[in-house]
Amino acid sequence: MATMSHTILVVGGAGYIGSHMVKALLAEGYRVVTLDNLSTGYRDAVVGGEFILGDMNDRALLRAVFTDHAISAVMHFASYIQVGESVTAPSKYYENNVTNTLALLDAMMEKNIRRFIFSSSAAVYGNPIRVPIDEGHPKAPINPYGRSKWMVEQILSDYETAYGLKSISLRYFNAAGADPGGQLGERHEPETHLIPLILQAASGRRPSISIFGNDYDTPDGTCIRDYVHVADLCQAHGLALQRLLQDGASGVFNLGNGNGFSVMEVIRAAREVTGKDITLEIKNRREGDPPRLVADSTRAIQELAWRPRFASLSAIIADAWAWERRLQSH
Ligand code: UDP
Repeated sequence: MATMSHTILVVGGAGYIGSHMVKALLAEGYRVVTLDNLSTGYRDAVVGGEFILGDMNDRALLRAVFTDHAISAVMHFASYIQVGESVTAPSKYYENNVTNTLALLDAMMEKNIRRFIFSSSAAVYGNPIRVPIDEGHPKAPINPYGRSKWMVEQILSDYETAYGLKSISLRYFNAAGADPGGQLGERHEPETHLIPLILQAASGRRPSISIFGNDYDTPDGTCIRDYVHVADLCQAHGLALQRLLQDGASGVFNLGNGNGFSVMEVIRAAREVTGKDITLEIKNRREGDPPRLVADSTRAIQELAWRPRFASLSAIIADAWAWERRLQSH
């Protein structure tokens, strides 16, 4: 297989999406080197390849990594992701998500490594003026997290102009689910995402799930999101990687299923999948939540030949539930 000759550096490969990506790359026959500082990731989530403990802004370390390994491309998953925290601690977000990413890119440029895949976010759009959201939608992020992602996307474009860097930015909508093989899943501390929190309420690890607002302008009053399975995100990354390895063009792609589900619909689906009664509490709105975020992913489907395999909400919840049961039993 052609992939056998390629080594991929996965920065943030011990985190939620990065760890699934490492597993997927190994399954495809790539050699994988993971760089992670374990600030939020888990060593045992890196199921194979070489693991290097360190920071992406450690220039000496990166020089050594790029000298020791013929890295064909870099995938970057090492961002902080909590929107609320980004508002109260913008310095932390700009430093890690922007400054440290810049250091990583500069280390790559120095060693002539010019293929980069970036985990971006629907947060770059801010409050949508039209839904479903296509890539041409205005970029108007409403918090430091979203701004940090949009800044990096712009930097990538400038690096292409100046230094010939080829990059693909993948704008995830709501990443969810877990490894269908049951080996990996979401382990955020603290957990802030809807589906794992609902499932913790189902398993008894939490007493209830809070609904942040039921007075939005949506059919049942709760916010609508586009949930996309982590395995489908990995598939898109694999296709983006192939494109760059074949000297294809840079690009920006939305990754979502194009189906919106309200918070109440997700809870109902989780009750069905788990067979558990899930207690809910209606709370105030959470700052900065747009009522409706749904992706138009036509571009990824057409240009990358992306074919989401786990597009149904119950498939996403079923895999996340298997993982929650595993966490609970440990
Ligand atoms: N949400 C909720 N209760 C929670 C966590 C999230 O009602 O305990 C809502 C949140 O307000 C949003 C949706 O669920 O409308 C998805 O939130 P999440 O944090 O999972 O992802 P986001 O859309 O912020 O990226």
